[in-house]
Amino acid sequence: MLGVEGDLVIRAPRAIIDGREQSAVVSVRGGRIVAIGALDTFSGKGSQIVDLADDEVLLPGLVDTHVHVNEPGRTEWEGFDSATRAAAAGGVTTIIDMPLNSIPSTVTVDALRIKREVAAPQVRVDVGFWGGAVPDHLGDLEALHEAGVFGFKCFLADSGVEEFPPLDADQFRTAMTETARLGALLIVHAEDAGTLAAATPASGRVYGDFLASRPPTAEDVAIAQVIDVTRETGGRSHVVHLSSASALASLRAARAEGLDVTVESCPHYLALDAEHIADGATSFKCCPPIRDHANQDALWAGLAASDIDFVVSDHSPSTADLKQFDAGDFGLAWGGIASLQVGLPAMWSAARERGHTLADVVRWMATATADRVGLHHKGRLAVGADADFVVFAPDEEWDVDVSALHHRNPVSAWADHHLTGQVRQTWLHGIRITNDSAPGGRLLTRGQR
Ligand SMILES: [Zn+2]
Repeated sequence: MLGVEGDLVIRAPRAIIDGREQSAVVSVRGGRIVAIGALDTFSGKGSQIVDLADDEVLLPGLVDTHVHVNEPGRTEWEGFDSATRAAAAGGVTTIIDMPLNSIPSTVTVDALRIKREVAAPQVRVDVGFWGGAVPDHLGDLEALHEAGVFGFKCFLADSGVEEFPPLDADQFRTAMTETARLGALLIVHAEDAGTLAAATPASGRVYGDFLASRPPTAEDVAIAQVIDVTRETGGRSHVVHLSSASALASLRAARAEGLDVTVESCPHYLALDAEHIADGATSFKCCPPIRDHANQDALWAGLAASDIDFVVSDHSPSTADLKQFDAGDFGLAWGGIASLQVGLPAMWSAARERGHTLADVVRWMATATADRVGLHHKGRLAVGADADFVVFAPDEEWDVDVSALHHRNPVSAWADHHLTGQVRQTWLHGIRITNDSAPGGRLLTRGQR
Protein backbone atom coordinates (compact mmCIF):
# COMPACT_ATOMS: atom_id res chain seq x y z
CA MET A 1 0.00 0.00 0.00
CA LEU A 2 1.14 3.50 -0.84
CA GLY A 3 0.69 4.89 2.66
CA VAL A 4 0.33 8.47 1.44
CA GLU A 5 1.50 11.14 3.88
CA GLY A 6 3.10 14.57 3.71
CA ASP A 7 3.34 18.19 4.89
CA LEU A 8 -0.04 18.71 3.31
CA VAL A 9 -2.53 16.02 2.38
CA ILE A 10 -5.68 16.78 0.42
CA ARG A 11 -8.44 14.17 0.41
CA ALA A 12 -10.63 14.79 -2.59
CA PRO A 13 -13.71 12.66 -3.37
CA ARG A 14 -13.47 14.31 -6.80
CA ALA A 15 -10.29 15.43 -8.60
CA ILE A 16 -9.22 15.88 -12.23
CA ILE A 17 -6.24 13.59 -12.76
CA ASP A 18 -4.95 12.10 -16.02
CA GLY A 19 -7.78 13.66 -18.00
CA ARG A 20 -10.67 12.32 -15.96
CA GLU A 21 -12.54 12.83 -12.73
CA GLN A 22 -11.64 10.40 -9.93
CA SER A 23 -11.28 10.34 -6.17
CA ALA A 24 -7.77 10.80 -4.83
CA VAL A 25 -5.55 11.68 -1.95
CA VAL A 26 -2.81 14.11 -2.95
CA SER A 27 0.27 14.51 -0.81
CA VAL A 28 2.60 17.51 -0.85
CA ARG A 29 6.11 18.10 0.42
CA GLY A 30 8.22 21.16 -0.16
CA GLY A 31 5.60 22.72 -2.41
CA ARG A 32 5.44 19.81 -4.83
CA ILE A 33 3.14 16.83 -5.25
CA VAL A 34 5.00 13.78 -3.95
CA ALA A 35 2.29 11.14 -4.12
CA ILE A 36 -1.20 10.57 -5.44
CA GLY A 37 -3.18 7.57 -4.32
CA ALA A 38 -6.66 6.19 -3.94
CA LEU A 39 -8.56 7.64 -0.97
CA ASP A 40 -8.12 4.46 1.06
CA THR A 41 -4.33 4.51 0.73
CA PHE A 42 -4.02 7.49 3.06
CA SER A 43 -1.83 6.51 6.02
CA GLY A 44 -3.49 9.01 8.33
CA LYS A 45 -0.25 10.95 8.71
CA GLY A 46 0.06 14.54 7.59
CA SER A 47 0.81 17.78 9.34
CA GLN A 48 -2.07 19.48 7.53
CA ILE A 49 -5.04 17.49 6.25
CA VAL A 50 -7.65 19.10 4.02
CA ASP A 51 -10.90 17.30 3.24
CA LEU A 52 -12.90 18.49 0.26
CA ALA A 53 -16.68 18.43 0.31
CA ASP A 54 -18.69 16.23 -2.05
CA ASP A 55 -19.67 19.26 -4.16
CA GLU A 56 -16.03 20.30 -4.65
CA VAL A 57 -13.51 19.17 -7.25
CA LEU A 58 -9.74 19.45 -6.92
CA LEU A 59 -8.18 20.96 -10.07
CA PRO A 60 -4.64 22.00 -10.90
CA GLY A 61 -4.20 25.78 -10.77
CA LEU A 62 -4.85 27.32 -14.17
CA VAL A 63 -2.00 28.62 -16.32
CA ASP A 64 -3.10 31.76 -18.18
CA THR A 65 -0.50 32.65 -20.80
CA HIS A 66 -2.26 35.82 -21.99
CA VAL A 67 -2.60 38.53 -19.34
CA HIS A 68 -1.94 42.28 -19.63
CA VAL A 69 -0.86 43.54 -16.22
CA ASN A 70 0.11 47.08 -17.41
CA GLU A 71 2.51 47.93 -14.55
CA PRO A 72 4.60 50.03 -14.55
CA GLY A 73 3.31 52.91 -16.61
CA ARG A 74 -0.42 52.22 -16.72
CA THR A 75 -0.92 50.86 -13.23
CA GLU A 76 -4.23 52.71 -13.03
CA TRP A 77 -5.48 50.12 -15.56
CA GLU A 78 -4.17 47.12 -13.57
CA GLY A 79 -1.08 46.31 -11.54
CA PHE A 80 0.69 43.22 -10.21
CA ASP A 81 -1.08 43.43 -6.85
CA SER A 82 -4.62 43.64 -8.23
CA ALA A 83 -3.97 41.31 -11.17
CA THR A 84 -2.49 38.53 -9.08
CA ARG A 85 -5.18 38.87 -6.39
CA ALA A 86 -7.77 38.51 -9.15
CA ALA A 87 -5.90 35.57 -10.64
CA ALA A 88 -5.78 33.75 -7.31
CA ALA A 89 -9.46 34.40 -6.64
CA GLY A 90 -10.25 33.06 -10.11
CA GLY A 91 -8.21 29.87 -9.76
CA VAL A 92 -5.28 31.01 -11.90
CA THR A 93 -1.96 30.23 -10.23
CA THR A 94 0.38 31.13 -13.10
CA ILE A 95 0.19 34.06 -15.51
CA ILE A 96 2.47 35.07 -18.34
CA ASP A 97 2.43 38.85 -18.67
CA MET A 98 2.11 40.48 -22.08
CA PRO A 99 4.88 42.86 -23.15
CA LEU A 100 2.62 45.76 -24.04
CA ASN A 101 0.38 48.31 -22.31
CA SER A 102 2.96 48.74 -19.57
CA ILE A 103 5.51 51.51 -20.02
CA PRO A 104 8.15 50.61 -20.89
CA SER A 105 7.06 47.75 -23.15
CA THR A 106 9.08 44.60 -22.53
CA VAL A 107 11.24 45.00 -25.62
CA THR A 108 14.69 45.23 -23.99
CA VAL A 109 16.48 43.42 -21.16
CA ASP A 110 16.43 46.67 -19.23
CA ALA A 111 12.65 46.90 -19.52
CA LEU A 112 12.33 43.26 -18.40
CA ARG A 113 14.50 44.05 -15.36
CA ILE A 114 12.27 47.01 -14.48
CA LYS A 115 9.13 44.87 -14.73
CA ARG A 116 10.61 42.10 -12.62
CA GLU A 117 11.70 44.57 -9.93
CA VAL A 118 8.25 46.13 -9.78
CA ALA A 119 6.49 42.76 -9.76
CA ALA A 120 8.70 40.86 -7.29
CA PRO A 121 7.35 42.15 -3.96
CA GLN A 122 3.71 42.11 -5.08
CA VAL A 123 2.84 38.87 -6.83
CA ARG A 124 0.42 36.38 -5.25
CA VAL A 125 0.67 33.84 -8.07
CA ASP A 126 3.61 32.80 -10.23
CA VAL A 127 4.40 35.24 -13.03
CA GLY A 128 6.44 34.86 -16.20
CA PHE A 129 6.98 37.39 -18.97
CA TRP A 130 6.65 37.57 -22.73
CA GLY A 131 9.09 39.79 -24.61
CA GLY A 132 7.97 42.07 -27.42
CA ALA A 133 9.07 42.00 -31.07
CA VAL A 134 8.75 45.55 -32.44
CA PRO A 135 10.48 47.09 -35.46
CA ASP A 136 13.20 49.00 -33.58
CA HIS A 137 14.15 46.20 -31.19
CA LEU A 138 14.45 43.03 -33.28
CA GLY A 139 18.13 43.10 -32.34
CA ASP A 140 17.16 42.64 -28.67
CA LEU A 141 15.40 39.29 -29.10
CA GLU A 142 18.43 37.12 -28.35
CA ALA A 143 19.32 38.99 -25.16
CA LEU A 144 15.71 38.85 -23.96
CA HIS A 145 15.58 35.14 -24.78
CA GLU A 146 18.74 34.59 -22.73
CA ALA A 147 17.17 36.62 -19.91
CA GLY A 148 14.32 34.10 -19.70
CA VAL A 149 11.24 35.47 -21.45
CA PHE A 150 8.80 32.74 -22.54
CA GLY A 151 8.78 33.93 -26.16
CA PHE A 152 7.88 37.03 -28.12
CA LYS A 153 4.65 38.82 -28.99
CA CYS A 154 4.19 40.80 -32.18
CA PHE A 155 1.36 42.54 -34.02
CA LEU A 156 0.56 42.52 -37.72
CA ALA A 157 -1.82 45.50 -37.27
CA ASP A 158 -2.02 48.50 -34.94
CA SER A 159 -1.69 47.40 -31.30
CA GLY A 160 -3.74 50.21 -29.77
CA VAL A 161 -0.70 51.78 -28.06
CA GLU A 162 1.82 53.85 -30.00
CA GLU A 163 4.90 52.57 -28.17
CA PHE A 164 4.29 49.01 -29.44
CA PRO A 165 4.16 49.27 -33.25
CA PRO A 166 3.33 46.36 -35.56
CA LEU A 167 5.75 44.50 -37.82
CA ASP A 168 5.47 44.78 -41.60
CA ALA A 169 5.87 41.66 -43.74
CA ASP A 170 9.68 41.89 -43.99
CA GLN A 171 10.10 42.64 -40.30
CA PHE A 172 7.82 39.74 -39.41
CA ARG A 173 9.97 37.40 -41.51
CA THR A 174 13.11 38.79 -39.85
CA ALA A 175 11.58 38.29 -36.40
CA MET A 176 10.59 34.70 -37.08
CA THR A 177 13.91 33.90 -38.66
CA GLU A 178 15.52 35.05 -35.42
CA THR A 179 13.08 33.27 -33.09
CA ALA A 180 13.49 30.11 -35.19
CA ARG A 181 17.25 30.34 -34.70
CA LEU A 182 16.75 30.79 -30.95
CA GLY A 183 14.10 28.05 -30.72
CA ALA A 184 11.74 30.65 -29.23
CA LEU A 185 7.99 30.91 -29.64
CA LEU A 186 6.64 33.87 -31.65
CA ILE A 187 3.06 34.69 -30.70
CA VAL A 188 1.13 36.81 -33.14
CA HIS A 189 -1.83 39.18 -33.03
CA ALA A 190 -3.09 38.02 -36.41
CA GLU A 191 -5.22 40.68 -38.05
CA ASP A 192 -3.99 41.99 -41.39
CA ALA A 193 -3.34 45.75 -41.45
CA GLY A 194 -4.16 46.10 -45.15
CA THR A 195 -7.50 44.33 -44.83
CA LEU A 196 -8.43 46.51 -41.85
CA ALA A 197 -7.40 49.65 -43.74
CA ALA A 198 -9.67 48.70 -46.65
CA ALA A 199 -12.71 48.35 -44.35
CA THR A 200 -14.79 51.31 -43.16
CA PRO A 201 -13.21 52.43 -39.87
CA ALA A 202 -15.22 51.89 -36.71
CA SER A 203 -17.16 54.88 -35.48
CA GLY A 204 -20.39 55.39 -33.62
CA ARG A 205 -22.60 53.28 -31.41
CA VAL A 206 -23.69 50.52 -33.78
CA TYR A 207 -22.04 47.19 -32.90
CA GLY A 208 -22.59 45.87 -36.42
CA ASP A 209 -20.50 48.72 -37.80
CA PHE A 210 -17.66 47.85 -35.44
CA LEU A 211 -17.89 44.19 -36.52
CA ALA A 212 -17.76 45.22 -40.19
CA SER A 213 -14.61 47.26 -39.50
CA ARG A 214 -12.73 44.11 -38.44
CA PRO A 215 -13.91 41.36 -40.82
CA PRO A 216 -12.99 37.66 -40.58
CA THR A 217 -10.83 38.03 -43.70
CA ALA A 218 -8.43 40.21 -41.68
CA GLU A 219 -7.74 37.19 -39.49
CA ASP A 220 -7.69 34.76 -42.43
CA VAL A 221 -5.10 36.80 -44.36
CA ALA A 222 -2.84 37.35 -41.34
CA ILE A 223 -3.01 33.69 -40.29
CA ALA A 224 -2.09 32.64 -43.83
CA GLN A 225 0.96 34.89 -43.49
CA VAL A 226 1.87 33.34 -40.12
CA ILE A 227 1.61 29.87 -41.64
CA ASP A 228 3.71 30.81 -44.69
CA VAL A 229 6.49 32.34 -42.61
CA THR A 230 6.42 29.44 -40.15
CA ARG A 231 6.94 27.08 -43.08
CA GLU A 232 9.65 29.25 -44.62
CA THR A 233 11.66 29.67 -41.41
CA GLY A 234 10.95 26.41 -39.61
CA GLY A 235 9.94 28.55 -36.64
CA ARG A 236 7.51 28.03 -33.78
CA SER A 237 4.44 30.24 -33.95
CA HIS A 238 1.24 30.76 -32.04
CA VAL A 239 -1.87 32.71 -33.02
CA VAL A 240 -3.34 34.60 -30.07
CA HIS A 241 -7.05 35.22 -29.43
CA LEU A 242 -8.62 33.61 -32.50
CA SER A 243 -12.06 35.11 -33.00
CA SER A 244 -13.03 33.94 -36.49
CA ALA A 245 -13.50 30.22 -37.05
CA SER A 246 -12.93 30.72 -40.77
CA ALA A 247 -9.16 30.34 -40.32
CA LEU A 248 -9.38 26.93 -38.65
CA ALA A 249 -9.19 24.95 -41.87
CA SER A 250 -5.88 26.52 -42.88
CA LEU A 251 -4.46 26.02 -39.38
CA ARG A 252 -5.52 22.38 -39.44
CA ALA A 253 -3.83 21.91 -42.81
CA ALA A 254 -0.65 23.62 -41.55
CA ARG A 255 -0.43 21.24 -38.62
CA ALA A 256 -1.09 18.25 -40.83
CA GLU A 257 1.91 19.45 -42.79
CA GLY A 258 3.96 19.26 -39.59
CA LEU A 259 4.34 22.98 -38.95
CA ASP A 260 4.77 24.06 -35.32
CA VAL A 261 1.83 26.46 -35.14
CA THR A 262 -0.77 26.59 -32.36
CA VAL A 263 -3.81 28.74 -31.68
CA GLU A 264 -5.79 29.96 -28.69
CA SER A 265 -9.23 31.43 -28.19
CA CYS A 266 -10.83 33.19 -25.22
CA PRO A 267 -13.93 32.86 -23.02
CA HIS A 268 -15.49 36.00 -24.52
CA TYR A 269 -15.41 34.53 -28.03
CA LEU A 270 -16.73 31.20 -26.79
CA ALA A 271 -19.46 32.38 -24.44
CA LEU A 272 -20.59 35.82 -25.66
CA ASP A 273 -21.98 36.62 -29.09
CA ALA A 274 -22.75 39.63 -31.27
CA GLU A 275 -26.50 38.97 -31.16
CA HIS A 276 -26.48 39.87 -27.45
CA ILE A 277 -24.33 43.01 -27.63
CA ALA A 278 -26.34 46.23 -27.50
CA ASP A 279 -25.37 49.26 -29.53
CA GLY A 280 -23.18 51.53 -27.41
CA ALA A 281 -22.10 48.63 -25.13
CA THR A 282 -18.37 49.29 -25.42
CA SER A 283 -17.54 47.01 -22.49
CA PHE A 284 -17.73 44.29 -25.17
CA LYS A 285 -15.20 45.96 -27.49
CA CYS A 286 -12.11 43.88 -28.11
CA CYS A 287 -9.94 43.20 -31.16
CA PRO A 288 -10.57 40.99 -33.01
CA PRO A 289 -14.25 41.39 -32.17
CA ILE A 290 -16.82 39.04 -30.65
CA ARG A 291 -18.64 37.63 -33.70
CA ASP A 292 -22.00 35.95 -34.28
CA HIS A 293 -23.43 32.80 -32.78
CA ALA A 294 -22.84 30.62 -35.83
CA ASN A 295 -19.15 31.51 -35.70
CA GLN A 296 -19.13 30.67 -31.99
CA ASP A 297 -20.57 27.21 -32.73
CA ALA A 298 -17.73 26.69 -35.20
CA LEU A 299 -15.15 27.75 -32.59
CA TRP A 300 -16.55 25.13 -30.21
CA ALA A 301 -16.33 22.52 -32.93
CA GLY A 302 -12.69 23.58 -33.35
CA LEU A 303 -12.05 23.14 -29.64
CA ALA A 304 -13.73 19.75 -29.60
CA ALA A 305 -11.59 18.64 -32.56
CA SER A 306 -8.39 20.02 -30.93
CA ASP A 307 -7.98 22.45 -33.83
CA ILE A 308 -7.93 25.12 -31.13
CA ASP A 309 -5.20 24.21 -28.64
CA PHE A 310 -6.19 26.16 -25.57
CA VAL A 311 -8.17 28.95 -23.95
CA VAL A 312 -6.74 32.02 -22.19
CA SER A 313 -8.33 35.14 -20.75
CA ASP A 314 -6.60 37.88 -22.79
CA HIS A 315 -7.28 39.93 -19.67
CA SER A 316 -6.93 43.44 -21.07
CA PRO A 317 -8.31 45.94 -18.58
CA SER A 318 -8.58 49.71 -18.69
CA THR A 319 -10.12 52.50 -16.67
CA ALA A 320 -13.84 53.18 -17.13
CA ASP A 321 -13.27 56.53 -18.86
CA LEU A 322 -11.32 54.84 -21.69
CA LYS A 323 -14.39 52.71 -22.43
CA GLN A 324 -16.26 55.94 -23.31
CA PHE A 325 -19.51 54.68 -21.82
CA ASP A 326 -21.26 58.05 -22.20
CA ALA A 327 -20.65 58.27 -25.92
CA GLY A 328 -20.77 54.49 -26.46
CA ASP A 329 -18.61 55.01 -29.53
CA PHE A 330 -16.89 51.81 -30.71
CA GLY A 331 -14.36 53.86 -32.66
CA LEU A 332 -13.18 55.80 -29.60
CA ALA A 333 -13.44 53.19 -26.85
CA TRP A 334 -10.47 51.13 -25.64
CA GLY A 335 -10.56 47.60 -27.00
CA GLY A 336 -10.03 45.00 -24.30
CA ILE A 337 -11.97 42.85 -21.85
CA ALA A 338 -11.05 42.30 -18.21
CA SER A 339 -11.76 38.68 -17.29
CA LEU A 340 -8.91 37.18 -15.28
CA GLN A 341 -11.05 36.40 -12.22
CA VAL A 342 -14.05 35.03 -14.12
CA GLY A 343 -12.44 33.08 -16.97
CA LEU A 344 -12.78 29.64 -15.35
CA PRO A 345 -16.47 29.87 -14.38
CA ALA A 346 -17.29 31.62 -17.66
CA MET A 347 -15.70 28.81 -19.66
CA TRP A 348 -17.13 26.09 -17.44
CA SER A 349 -20.65 27.54 -17.69
CA ALA A 350 -20.48 27.49 -21.48
CA ALA A 351 -18.60 24.19 -21.73
CA ARG A 352 -21.03 22.18 -19.60
CA GLU A 353 -23.96 23.49 -21.64
CA ARG A 354 -22.26 22.09 -24.71
CA GLY A 355 -21.64 18.72 -23.09
CA HIS A 356 -17.97 19.12 -22.21
CA THR A 357 -16.45 17.98 -18.94
CA LEU A 358 -14.40 19.73 -16.31
CA ALA A 359 -11.46 17.61 -17.50
CA ASP A 360 -11.79 19.30 -20.91
CA VAL A 361 -11.69 22.74 -19.30
CA VAL A 362 -8.61 21.77 -17.28
CA ARG A 363 -6.88 20.58 -20.45
CA TRP A 364 -7.72 23.82 -22.31
CA MET A 365 -6.92 26.27 -19.49
CA ALA A 366 -4.16 24.56 -17.51
CA THR A 367 -2.35 21.62 -19.10
CA ALA A 368 -2.16 22.72 -22.73
CA THR A 369 -1.19 26.30 -21.89
CA ALA A 370 1.52 25.14 -19.49
CA ASP A 371 2.91 22.69 -22.03
CA ARG A 372 3.10 25.29 -24.83
CA VAL A 373 5.35 27.53 -22.74
CA GLY A 374 7.43 24.66 -21.35
CA LEU A 375 5.97 24.65 -17.83
CA HIS A 376 5.51 20.89 -17.77
CA HIS A 377 5.54 20.91 -13.96
CA LYS A 378 2.39 23.04 -13.88
CA GLY A 379 -1.19 22.70 -15.08
CA ARG A 380 -1.69 19.09 -13.89
CA LEU A 381 -2.16 17.01 -10.78
CA ALA A 382 0.80 14.65 -11.09
CA VAL A 383 3.69 13.46 -8.96
CA GLY A 384 6.52 15.95 -9.31
CA ALA A 385 4.29 18.84 -10.36
CA ASP A 386 4.00 22.05 -8.36
CA ALA A 387 1.37 21.86 -5.63
CA ASP A 388 -0.81 24.54 -7.24
CA PHE A 389 -4.45 23.69 -6.59
CA VAL A 390 -7.94 25.01 -7.09
CA VAL A 391 -10.91 23.81 -5.08
CA PHE A 392 -13.79 24.36 -7.47
CA ALA A 393 -17.52 24.02 -6.80
CA PRO A 394 -18.84 23.24 -10.28
CA ASP A 395 -22.55 23.50 -9.43
CA GLU A 396 -22.53 26.72 -7.43
CA GLU A 397 -24.32 29.55 -9.26
CA TRP A 398 -23.58 33.25 -8.87
CA ASP A 399 -23.93 36.61 -10.56
CA VAL A 400 -20.84 38.64 -11.45
CA ASP A 401 -20.66 41.87 -9.44
CA VAL A 402 -17.74 43.63 -11.11
CA SER A 403 -17.22 45.97 -8.19
CA ALA A 404 -16.60 42.92 -5.96
CA LEU A 405 -13.87 41.49 -8.22
CA HIS A 406 -10.20 42.14 -7.44
CA HIS A 407 -9.66 43.70 -10.88
CA ARG A 408 -8.52 47.27 -10.35
CA ASN A 409 -11.41 48.75 -12.35
CA PRO A 410 -15.05 47.64 -12.14
CA VAL A 411 -15.34 47.35 -15.91
CA SER A 412 -15.96 44.07 -17.74
CA ALA A 413 -18.09 42.49 -20.43
CA TRP A 414 -18.90 39.89 -17.76
CA ALA A 415 -20.74 42.37 -15.53
CA ASP A 416 -23.99 40.91 -14.18
CA HIS A 417 -23.55 37.60 -16.00
CA HIS A 418 -25.02 34.56 -14.31
CA LEU A 419 -22.30 31.90 -14.06
CA THR A 420 -22.05 28.36 -12.80
CA GLY A 421 -18.95 27.27 -10.90
CA GLN A 422 -17.15 29.02 -8.09
CA VAL A 423 -13.54 28.94 -6.88
CA ARG A 424 -13.55 28.21 -3.15
CA GLN A 425 -9.82 27.82 -2.47
CA THR A 426 -6.57 28.44 -4.32
CA TRP A 427 -3.20 26.97 -3.30
CA LEU A 428 0.24 27.87 -4.60
CA HIS A 429 3.31 25.72 -3.89
CA GLY A 430 1.30 23.93 -1.19
CA ILE A 431 0.25 27.11 0.61
CA ARG A 432 -3.30 28.45 0.58
CA ILE A 433 -3.68 31.96 -0.84
CA THR A 434 -6.05 34.17 1.14
CA ASN A 435 -6.83 37.88 0.98
CA ASP A 436 -4.54 38.41 3.95
CA SER A 437 -1.65 36.12 3.05
CA ALA A 438 1.67 37.65 2.06
CA PRO A 439 2.53 37.71 -1.65
CA GLY A 440 4.01 34.24 -2.20
CA GLY A 441 4.25 34.12 -5.98
CA ARG A 442 7.52 33.59 -7.83
CA LEU A 443 8.91 35.18 -10.94
CA LEU A 444 9.39 32.49 -13.56
CA THR A 445 12.23 32.15 -16.02
CA ARG A 446 11.82 30.03 -19.14
CA GLY A 447 13.53 26.67 -18.84
CA GLN A 448 14.11 26.95 -15.08
CA ARG A 449 12.17 25.61 -12.19
ZN1 LIG B 1 -3.92 40.58 -25.51
